[in-house]
Amino acid sequence: MDYPDLVKRFSLGGQTALITGAGRGIGRGLAMALAKAGANIVVVDIMEENARATAAFVASETGVKTYCHAADLSQSQKIKDYVKDILRECGKIDILINNAGIQVRKPALEFTLEEWNSVVNIHLTASFLMAQAVVPEMIRQGGGKIVNIASINGVIAVPNTIAYSAAKSGLAGLTRAMAVEWTPFHIRTNAIGPGYCRTELTERLFQDPERSQWVMSRIPMKRLAEPENDLGYVAVFLASEASAYVNGQVIYVDGGWLAS
Ligand code: NAD
Repeated sequence: MDYPDLVKRFSLGGQTALITGAGRGIGRGLAMALAKAGANIVVVDIMEENARATAAFVASETGVKTYCHAADLSQSQKIKDYVKDILRECGKIDILINNAGIQVRKPALEFTLEEWNSVVNIHLTASFLMAQAVVPEMIRQGGGKIVNIASINGVIAVPNTIAYSAAKSGLAGLTRAMAVEWTPFHIRTNAIGPGYCRTELTERLFQDPERSQWVMSRIPMKRLAEPENDLGYVAVFLASEASAYVNGQVIYVDGGWLAS
């Protein structure tokens, strides 16, 4: 038996998805999953070589069209121009995934203002400014989807990551505000709150046997999240018509951490 209607609801065929920070890690996994659902992919990353590699890999594995743009999203005043350049090349953006991020790990009392700003800037301000630059185009197109990559650290705090926790909590609020403001234009906004994945962002933590063991002990499923399979297909759901009535939500994909 096949399920053509079901497949159609999850399909992203003919759509273009822009994913920030897709040069590696979770963003790369999201790019693969969205491409497997049929979306053309725009990879945006500060690390040009990684962006190129993701774009080439996704195109060769799935056959979709891919584009790649080197962009430093901490340069707030440049974001509108980045989006203009991207639109000139790929014509439209139907799906925006705000994923790029950094971490600064140190005791709260030792945080400099510059470090605080660098974390808040990329997770929160860049997500807002990317949406602000893309949404007018989505409105012209008749709608779109935004998916912000939040974190369980927006709900639970761990020591030494004060700016990250604050920014990720803020991203949940930003997601709700975007949903409320842009729903009249047929733009749905949701967020994914991943549990822990082993990526460059978390590598230092996992190299510490004690902290690594602590993380694993908190996950009922006793394994880390895998970018494409565990998070990517949730992004496909949120970007597709399968989630037509899901709006302004943070979906936590954490192997049960927050429930435990
Ligand atoms: P990562 O470090 O592997 O990837 C982050 C990507 O963002 C990199 O490709 C990096 O070059 C890019 N980036 C950083 N600063 C940028 C800038 N100024 N301009 C453009 N691109 C920039 O990390 P990851 O684990 O894949 O994280 C991706 C997202 O997932 C982040 O928002 C992170 O907070 C979130 N997240 C990660 C985990 C985890 O356990 N890894 C858990 C929850 C949420």
